[in-house]
Amino acid sequence: MAERTAMVTGGARGIGRAIATALAADGRAVAVADVLVKEAVEAARELERAGGRAVGVAADVTDRASVEEAVSRTEAELGPIEILVNNAGWDELRPFLETDEPFWDRVIDVNYKGCLRTTRAVLPGMAERGWGRVVNIGSDAGRVGSSLESVYSGAKGAVIAFTKTIAREVARQGVTANAVCPGPTRTGLLEGMATSEAGGQRLIESLSRAVPMRRLGAPEDVASAVAFLASERAGFITGQTLSVSGGLTMA
Ligand code: NDP
Repeated sequence: MAERTAMVTGGARGIGRAIATALAADGRAVAVADVLVKEAVEAARELERAGGRAVGVAADVTDRASVEEAVSRTEAELGPIEILVNNAGWDELRPFLETDEPFWDRVIDVNYKGCLRTTRAVLPGMAERGWGRVVNIGSDAGRVGSSLESVYSGAKGAVIAFTKTIAREVARQGVTANAVCPGPTRTGLLEGMATSEAGGQRLIESLSRAVPMRRLGAPEDVASAVAFLASERAGFITGQTLSVSGGLTMA
């Protein structure tokens, strides 16, 4: 595929890292953008060792200046961003009645407003140049709800609705926007939630049993869907929400 520049937020580990790897394997130049700067630089080095072009950049999606700086650095080093993957996300398992407003603000700031900040910084250039791919990582929680994830589910639902709306607004400028919604996927985030909560491990075991394919997702399962939606081949697909969950949720 053409060497287009991609930026993956939260790309240092977990699903984001697998996405960065899949995009690099497709010949994209990849900016690994993360709050974990050392890990982002190391992830980018690994992509370079495999023959790709990559850069690790500091990016905190809760901070507009940090996002703008990450976009500038990426564009200076790799060229205009043509593929944006909004993957950075965060949650903790808590019953809604045990959450408070600072927790709501944090969940909404990372998962929803983070996506707004990066999109605001990158979309004008895509529209002006007449080509772009935005892939937002939602969650099945945002489609069907998820126990102990009320605020996160709402934020991911917002990501999905936002994706559909920008898809409408920039369709004629050659830019597509789609949401990929992982089901439970083996990453540090999931393991952290499982160990921090009483009953978390049991919840995860029962989720695996509920998946028709009888396993949790791997980051690579999500990454291949993202790479497709980011590709030239997916040019007539926009405003869609794709669940990658081994059939845990359907329709
Ligand atoms: P991980 O926590 O494993 O990786 C996420 C990465 O994003 C980490 O490097 C994390 O850093 C980074 N990050 C967190 N906050 C910010 C921020 N403010 N700015 C920039 N980077 C940040 O998560 P996953 O790989 O599991 O999740 C990736 C995406 O997939 C998220 O959007 C998540 O909501 C979604 N998802 C995950 C599911 C799962 O089961 N794993 C299921 C459904 C959706 P740090 O470690 O310091 O927080």
